[in-house]
Amino acid sequence: MNSWQLGDVRIDRVLEFEQPLLAPEVLFPAIRPDIVEAQRGWLEPGFLDPVSGLLVLAFHSFVITTPQTVVLVDTCSGNDRERPRKPRYHRRSWPYLANLDGAGVAPEAVDRVLCTHLHVDHVGWNTRLVGGVWVPTFPNARYLFSRREWEFWERHYRTEDFADDPYHEDSITPVMRAGQADLVADDHVIDRWVRLEPSPGHTPGHVCVRVRSGGREAVMSGDLMHHPLQCGAPELNSCFCVDADGARATRRAFLETQAENDALVMPAHFATPSAGRVRAHGDAFRFAFCGEA
Ligand SMILES: [Zn+2]
Repeated sequence: MNSWQLGDVRIDRVLEFEQPLLAPEVLFPAIRPDIVEAQRGWLEPGFLDPVSGLLVLAFHSFVITTPQTVVLVDTCSGNDRERPRKPRYHRRSWPYLANLDGAGVAPEAVDRVLCTHLHVDHVGWNTRLVGGVWVPTFPNARYLFSRREWEFWERHYRTEDFADDPYHEDSITPVMRAGQADLVADDHVIDRWVRLEPSPGHTPGHVCVRVRSGGREAVMSGDLMHHPLQCGAPELNSCFCVDADGARATRRAFLETQAENDALVMPAHFATPSAGRVRAHGDAFRFAFCGEA
């Protein structure tokens, strides 16, 4: 469990799972061997597994506790899902709620749930299976979805791409049906300390979550980048990016800005300790991991 304190705001990481998962050329189809070789020294063993050669990826949420609001950012892949086409999400029973409890957060205490975007691994714990019915995991929360993001996926969920993997039906529709969803602008303000920032590219309505307190900043950057090796090669898109040019432009601009303002950057899939600062390195960047602040 990682925890960071910024002025009046505490941020806790809640893990679903972390493991060597994907070969570099699977997650990043345009990668060349020399890109991996140039960064192997700073990535092994925690972020690039020297035995298997696989990228280590984490699936976690961040809980932001301000003096007014408890905000849960990204909800991983969830339990009890029928995902026969995606074995890593299929019929799982991760100890996620126990880990949330370990961070001192009861589901009833969460005021806002924010999905940086609506891919399958960012909406799972929106719901859980109770008596054969999918119900919102966080009974007192408003679930915030970018209106732009929802309008894009609502059209795509109806296409045949999703015919045999309709994850929205178990992870998003039940929240809508319960009347707990709010479609918000990409720059929505949650409270004095927490606001959304548009970061389109990976998906059209992808948002980051900016926290400011005590003269310091943190930002949950979702899937704007998936792995620290993209700091050294910001042009690399994942195989999941919807808009290739937009994703590249947003990523480079984001890295330049965070290197200047010294924000604590908290991506959705960086392995333990998951947060750090972006440092300029030649014509690209490095990620200086920071397990507490
Ligand atoms: Zn993701």
